[in-house]
Amino acid sequence: MKKHKPAEKIQDIQYFGEYGGINPSISDSSTYTYLAGKTMEKVFDGDKEGCYLYSRHLSPSNGYLEKTISAMENSENAQTTASGMAAISSSILQICNSGDEIISSRTIYGGTYALMKNFLSKFDIKTNFVDITNTKSIESKITNKTKIIFCESISNPLLEVADIKSLSTIAKKYNLKLIIDNTFTPLIFSPIELGADIVIHSLTKFINGASDTVGGIICSNNEFIKNLIDVNSGASMLLGPTMDSFRSNSILKNIRTLHIRMKQHSRNAKYLAEKFQELGIKTYYPGLKNHPQHDLMKSTYNQEFGFGGILVINIETIKNAYSLMESMQKKNIGYLAVSLGFYKTLFSAPGASTSSEIPEKEQTRMGLSDGMVRISVGIDNNIEQTFEKIKSCLIETEII
Ligand code: PLP
Repeated sequence: MKKHKPAEKIQDIQYFGEYGGINPSISDSSTYTYLAGKTMEKVFDGDKEGCYLYSRHLSPSNGYLEKTISAMENSENAQTTASGMAAISSSILQICNSGDEIISSRTIYGGTYALMKNFLSKFDIKTNFVDITNTKSIESKITNKTKIIFCESISNPLLEVADIKSLSTIAKKYNLKLIIDNTFTPLIFSPIELGADIVIHSLTKFINGASDTVGGIICSNNEFIKNLIDVNSGASMLLGPTMDSFRSNSILKNIRTLHIRMKQHSRNAKYLAEKFQELGIKTYYPGLKNHPQHDLMKSTYNQEFGFGGILVINIETIKNAYSLMESMQKKNIGYLAVSLGFYKTLFSAPGASTSSEIPEKEQTRMGLSDGMVRISVGIDNNIEQTFEKIKSCLIETEII
């Protein structure tokens, strides 16, 4: 099979704006006119495609971004959402009915964990949290109520790499939908090519790269996206997680540099990961040879974009974590802030922040500990200099 080239797919796209502009025009309308009343009736009945009706359903500006990210993900279609969480919740609620079950990796973003554990359970949708790297154990968790296998391509924050191909084989065998959250690895992984049914992104992170907005997208086949926007039963249409046209337009502009940014994020993260390891600090990064899924990643990723821009170090205590992060912020290495994929480095202690929704006992079981610092490495031109500054912070805080 020909290997999907995600960056070339984006490069091949050409849009024209009104009056021949080289950027597509922003559609600044919530509703659209019809010359014939009958046509509107057909659109409502789902018998006519390609007509705009109302911007909660489809809009031209969101369409440009959907077409671009579909091309990147090799999906037939896509639907933008107002956030990554909206993409996840809409996809799940489109598939699951009350009484259904989800199998999810236990190491996922804390918000997704809380959605599954606390919120979906209110509607009697139960989640079995599993060790996703133990693919063999997953089959034993499948019941006749299971509808979804969910995981992140590289998990937040433990950086476990999912075996998407094997998960897809299981999903197909039991007629389940495999949903991959590809937020950490745009361009790096092409999950649909590896057999995923649905790929979601938080556009808030690397894809937009500017940390100026939240956003999300669901990529899948035409049938699933059509179901999502169905006026009578579509989660996207009825829950209303709509992205605004101005935002989709600004994200579209930023995605044009994604290939350059991802390469630099990965290059810098690998450099820092190796340096941290040399200093004897416990470091998690899939580009390190001793990472448990290093070989798996090498066999499935799009090599030119590297192993990603996120790394985690474990410096034993939360006190150490706070001292180091405060010192790094003072030295302008980056920001003590949640989120990721910014041009500057962002760092946070996941156990006490983005994964705090996960109960402490569960955190310990999955290997998350207080002294962990998640670092979303920026696109610094001089990463050697950045490392020297980080090293001085480690010395100043007596961590090394
Ligand atoms: N998925 C992952 C892996 C994330 O890290 C996040 C947020 O941190 C989300 C989803 C949720 O995205 P958003 O904040 O855009 O709703």
